[in-house]
Amino acid sequence: MRGLLLLAGMFLAACQAVGSLTPPPTFTAQAPSTLTPTIVEPTATTGPTSTPQLIPGGEYTVRLHPDGPLFIGDRVSIEVISPGEDELQEKNVQIRIEGPVSADLGSSAFTEFGIGGRVQATFNWVWDTSNLEPGEHQIQFAVQPEGPEWVETVYLHPAKDVPSPEPVAKWEKVQLDCCKVHYITGTDFAHDLPDLMEIIQRQADDSVQRMGVEFEQRVIITILPRVLGHGGFAGNEIYISYTDDNYAGNDLSQVLHHEMIHILDRQSGGELRPSLFVEGLAVYLSDGHFKQEPILARVSALYDLDQYLPLRELADSFYTSQHEIGYLEGAALVQFMVNRYGWQAFDDFYRDIYPHPSEKQSLAIDQALQKHFDLTFEQLESNFVNEIQKQKINPDMSEDVILSVTYYDAVRRYQRLLDPSAYFLTAWLPDGEQMRQRGIVADYLRRPSSPENQMIEELLVDIDQQIRQGNYGEAAKELWLVENKLNQVEVEVLIGAALPGGVQQQIRFFD
Ligand SMILES: [Zn+2]
Repeated sequence: MRGLLLLAGMFLAACQAVGSLTPPPTFTAQAPSTLTPTIVEPTATTGPTSTPQLIPGGEYTVRLHPDGPLFIGDRVSIEVISPGEDELQEKNVQIRIEGPVSADLGSSAFTEFGIGGRVQATFNWVWDTSNLEPGEHQIQFAVQPEGPEWVETVYLHPAKDVPSPEPVAKWEKVQLDCCKVHYITGTDFAHDLPDLMEIIQRQADDSVQRMGVEFEQRVIITILPRVLGHGGFAGNEIYISYTDDNYAGNDLSQVLHHEMIHILDRQSGGELRPSLFVEGLAVYLSDGHFKQEPILARVSALYDLDQYLPLRELADSFYTSQHEIGYLEGAALVQFMVNRYGWQAFDDFYRDIYPHPSEKQSLAIDQALQKHFDLTFEQLESNFVNEIQKQKINPDMSEDVILSVTYYDAVRRYQRLLDPSAYFLTAWLPDGEQMRQRGIVADYLRRPSSPENQMIEELLVDIDQQIRQGNYGEAAKELWLVENKLNQVEVEVLIGAALPGGVQQQIRFFD
């Protein structure tokens, strides 16, 4: 099947990386496959309850896209998520639509998906519902060669009920000196566009000035009208979230600047650019990660709080280390080296790093440090730690930095539990160019909107504002509310998984 490129090998800007240290919870039920409730469940007021038939025998989880209820006219994508990694060995999934309008939707092998490498079979825009009738439809799944087979029922709502700004929403573009910006009509970005054009151009001009390198071509920017990951992605192109109620707290200028530095950095070459320095450079040249901040002083605060991550370990597992701390330390290290050795010497070193036979980035860095500065990585770190210990910090900064870390951990936990398409390790990020060619907007427009989603997102938006305004007590109080709510959700999910049929969620899908 022709794939939408899910943009795996990108930097995620304010981006990529991995989040908290605890693994995502398992949503899969013990017995047959489950449909994720927030995705296929018809709402009580608009459709009947979904009552899938089951043929027991698997632990596969099925997710449908776009998120939320489905409507006639949707081109539906399907993820069949494996409980383990055995499926990578020559297994595949076949899908059929059963009923009066039966159709073979083909098969897909299990592969690793997203930055997290989740094992799944992925069917991209495989089910065109344009000519179907509203109501229940059966999808038959068969894992080959040994099973299991099962049937899931999904409810298609009438096309007239599709939420705004669909069905009239469509892709538009605007061209600036720096960039070609693709966005969807009827979104917050479209509304704010007149004010944003100058901001985008200014970030591009500043990025060029800070890096001392021109863009080789206009930068392609796709605006995401929902939160995905931490709100920014960059490979050859940039994807960036813009929405009035961005619960990941990004500000457009900051994240755009970060991503533009990634593009210029990539253009500038280097055989192995270690992640510690790739992200460190983007944060350093943007004067902060999610906001402008005194980088060295904030790392000093982290050090005093005993949150400092040793550089060798950080270099070798950058994207699985604590995200905010890793990015700040990378930026502080770049700043320290530029201050001590000058930009040119730093850049010569950074562009002259080569893979080490061990594949450890720390050892590759160590080799290049010895060649350029006659230092081992340990010696560099020792000098770096001496420098950050000299930084002046105040109690406010310690509160701010630790609350920021806690806040983004809560954002990622929320995504894993209640907005899984947005969780950066396995984000559903279809290729923008293919979506534009096919005229598809729903994958980016729709998102979970249950009362729980709305309540937690509102709190997260507010917490970000409170931290930015220095209202740390209020931020801490609201963070506690979010964690409390997420604890409840997690317990419900785990009970649901442990006791099939024991909670309402299971009854809905297994009766
Ligand atoms: Zn980045």
